[in-house]
Amino acid sequence: MPPDTSFPAAWPFDNSYARLPDRFYARLAPTPVRAPKLIKINIPLARQLGLDPDVLASPAGVDMLAGNSLAPGSEPIALAYAGHQFGNFVPQLGDGRAVLLGEIVDRGGVRRDIQLKGSGPTPFSRRGDGRAALGPVLREYIVSEAMAALGIPTTRSLAAVITGEGVVREEILPGAVLTRVASSHIRVGTFQFFAARGDTEALKLLADHVIARHYPDAGSYRGLFEAVIARQAELVAKWLLVGFVHGVMNTDNVSIAGETIDYGPCAFMDAYNPETVFSSIDQYGRYAYGKQPEIAAWNLARFGETLLPLMSDDKDIAIAEANESLATFSGRFARALLTGMRRKLGLFTEQDGDAALAQELLKILADNGTDYTLAFRRLSDGTARGLFEESAAFDSWNAKWLARIAQEPQDDGTRRAAMQAVNPAYIPRNHKVEAALAAAIQDDNYAPFEELLAVLTKPFEERPQYAAYAEPPSGDEQRNYRTYCGT
Ligand code: AMP
Ligand code: MG
Repeated sequence: MPPDTSFPAAWPFDNSYARLPDRFYARLAPTPVRAPKLIKINIPLARQLGLDPDVLASPAGVDMLAGNSLAPGSEPIALAYAGHQFGNFVPQLGDGRAVLLGEIVDRGGVRRDIQLKGSGPTPFSRRGDGRAALGPVLREYIVSEAMAALGIPTTRSLAAVITGEGVVREEILPGAVLTRVASSHIRVGTFQFFAARGDTEALKLLADHVIARHYPDAGSYRGLFEAVIARQAELVAKWLLVGFVHGVMNTDNVSIAGETIDYGPCAFMDAYNPETVFSSIDQYGRYAYGKQPEIAAWNLARFGETLLPLMSDDKDIAIAEANESLATFSGRFARALLTGMRRKLGLFTEQDGDAALAQELLKILADNGTDYTLAFRRLSDGTARGLFEESAAFDSWNAKWLARIAQEPQDDGTRRAAMQAVNPAYIPRNHKVEAALAAAIQDDNYAPFEELLAVLTKPFEERPQYAAYAEPPSGDEQRNYRTYCGT
């Protein structure tokens, strides 16, 4: 049955990507599903997009969110892209289970992609079924919305529906579709797709599109490269500051707009350990917590390579300039990290020893296996000491920190409030996420999912009834935790 187009309310689509040449995408509609049912609408995000949440939640709206009908003005396309996966180049990946319905300029004037993920096979599906299972859809919903609430650039989740169909994985699981919202879905891998084909004309069109859409002040292709470097440096610093491990930093999962994208195997670190890896397929720790800045730089080098033909006709000049730009990453990253660390430590002024002070605390956290999130939160109210097995090391550090903050102009109350505004009480703890998913999948009970969202969308606001959500997992839960790519 072909999708009909009888959606009641007009959506204010303006589809700039679909106006690029045909080789940028494949045009196709989502594949309808048997029995769509709404799980969740993100009401504030719907309003931000100028969409009526009640219309979205109506039967006609749910049909649209499931891919059974198309909103007027939608021009559905699956985007072409390539990418390095764990270091190996794959010349064609593309949206294998997603379609971009179109773009909406939101109330803040920001152009946003509206994409269905899990919407059926596309010409890019390779051996996949084009579908998504309920667990990974809920996971992406929870973690992306938690990231947004933590103030970290990210794709958003507008809605989740179940399809009424099973998807075949190791077992048969309920199928679901996520409506994902992004500044764009253009990736490093999108540039690589055209670079691999020697299609300089397409590269130029893509780069011009990206400059107009995301970096109007870039001024040049080299300026574009540097702007993307700056956003990635800031993004990865923010990840580290909250203990986020992306888990699959392949170049197809690096957003040109600098948003966190692809929530397959990601997870938050509990006990501080730079070698933390959760993903079952990341055997060698390529994407470990502490490796993320280095990998981001590697991914940006791959991006820079695609821009060389645009940067100069003289290849040697282009390479020299690109390398010079790439070299700015580490300084930008280090500055962003230190700025964030100062805030976490309640420091408003800058002193030379601040980085060393932060480093020393991290080392004590690592030596003690202390929970990263809890340690910073407790520091703000002076109750961190009990988290350390060897309290002598903490006491010695704490004396230095107290001496350092004594030199700050702010009073204790101001500092505490500032620290609590950057050190979350609640992150998506892995055991809590898993419990919410299990209740939904096994018992059709969405109450834990809803409660978890209520907690995580106000991560800095401690509420006594949610105290359990601030607690680290037990040792066993933590040691055995594994994530899987969201297929
Ligand atoms: P990811 O691991 O989610 O970054 O996906 C890598 C590539 O595999 C992308 O091209 C996806 O579209 C594709 N892919 C992932 N899962 C599926 C699926 N179930 N069906 C078709 N393609 C998929
Ligand atoms: Mg991906």
